[in-house]
Amino acid sequence: MRGRRFLATLNSVTLDIGRIRRDFPILHRSVRGQPLVYLDSAGTAQTPQVVLDTIDGHHRRHHANVGRSAHTLAAEATAAYADARAVIAGFIGAADPDEVVFTRNATESLNMVAHAFEPAAAEGDPRWRIGPGDEVVVTEMEHHSNLLPWYELCRRTGATLRRLRLTEDGRLDLSALPIVIGDRTRVVAWTHVSNVLGTVNPVQSIVARARAAGAITVLDGAQSVPHRPVDVDALGVDLLAFSGHKMCGPTGVGVLWGRAELLATMPPMLAGGGMVADVGANGFTTLPPPARFEAGTPPIAQAVGLAAAAGYLSGLGLAAVHRHEQRLISHALDSLAGIDGLRVFGPPDRAGVISFVLDGVEAADLGRQLDRAGVQVRVGRHCAAQVCERFGVPALVRASFHVYNTLADVDALAEVVAAARKGAVA
Ligand code: PLP
Repeated sequence: MRGRRFLATLNSVTLDIGRIRRDFPILHRSVRGQPLVYLDSAGTAQTPQVVLDTIDGHHRRHHANVGRSAHTLAAEATAAYADARAVIAGFIGAADPDEVVFTRNATESLNMVAHAFEPAAAEGDPRWRIGPGDEVVVTEMEHHSNLLPWYELCRRTGATLRRLRLTEDGRLDLSALPIVIGDRTRVVAWTHVSNVLGTVNPVQSIVARARAAGAITVLDGAQSVPHRPVDVDALGVDLLAFSGHKMCGPTGVGVLWGRAELLATMPPMLAGGGMVADVGANGFTTLPPPARFEAGTPPIAQAVGLAAAAGYLSGLGLAAVHRHEQRLISHALDSLAGIDGLRVFGPPDRAGVISFVLDGVEAADLGRQLDRAGVQVRVGRHCAAQVCERFGVPALVRASFHVYNTLADVDALAEVVAAARKGAVA
């Protein structure tokens, strides 16, 4: 395996994967006596030393609350937090750092948007109006985090949830776009990249249709922002959500980006310290975004760590990261295709995610066999029950890549899967 890893390094045109791997201390541990093969980056990506050092350094030297006190440490922490916002804005091509809201994760970001509709409409902004007869559009490939908040919005308001369905090869059925998105559509929320199928969804064409209908557009970037260049201006969406821990940053921090003029009309989901302009006997007024959405002590060290992760990925170049992952996925598709009884879900042109089932071996059992070989994959419904239902499978095995993976990692996966199949038919 080591030889193959070296070859993968040599074959890498733009990135020195061997050097990159040395940036990630965890990759050098073993699992059950085997070298670690980490193939669950769609779940959580690993953290490079520079991020660990940045968070550690922040705690050692600048740890204090932000935006509240005038002492030196508070000023340093406040400046570091503001710098982190600016870095993230640059990372996604946002015009203004104030369009970047730090949240706990993509899930919280999406919930914040879904919770804004009724109070924003009550304040008189027609873009947020929603009620019986109105429609919310999602797709059949959404992660529960971009489905359940919309179920809840529909339950509260009497609106109807509509779905863009999937084709047999795991793409969105775009022929239905003019039927599903229409005059009654108030919001369209969809994932940029499927966390199960790896499908890369169109953005501009959906935005154009939604905009013609006067609907707000919300893009779930949890599986795209960490892996490819994402520019909010070019995409044209109104709001974008993603998580820090999937982009080599720490857990506990996510982002909601929104167009300044739309964020300005959006009420907060949480109220508390740090988000108020004025408090009186009977109520309060809120600060403008982003502070309005960051009630309580925000994830300060986490945001600083996330900015370091964004800097690390930018240093490698997101286009190069994407290219490397494309080599991995094409090798995975080729290697797994040769295994009898294996069914891969999703289209051939895809992001670095591959989900499959193997005849005669339950997904959970295959996951255990892989784990015994040190290969860490995710098994189950992947918080996307609709996808499992669509394809009639109770659970799938998912391997997912990031920049530190090698062709040898893919070979290790394929070897164990092939052996499991042999064992099942023996
Ligand atoms: N959206 C997609 C497409 C995801 O894959 C995930 C997590 O796997 C989420 C949203 C939710 O991310 P988090 O759990 O970090 O909030």
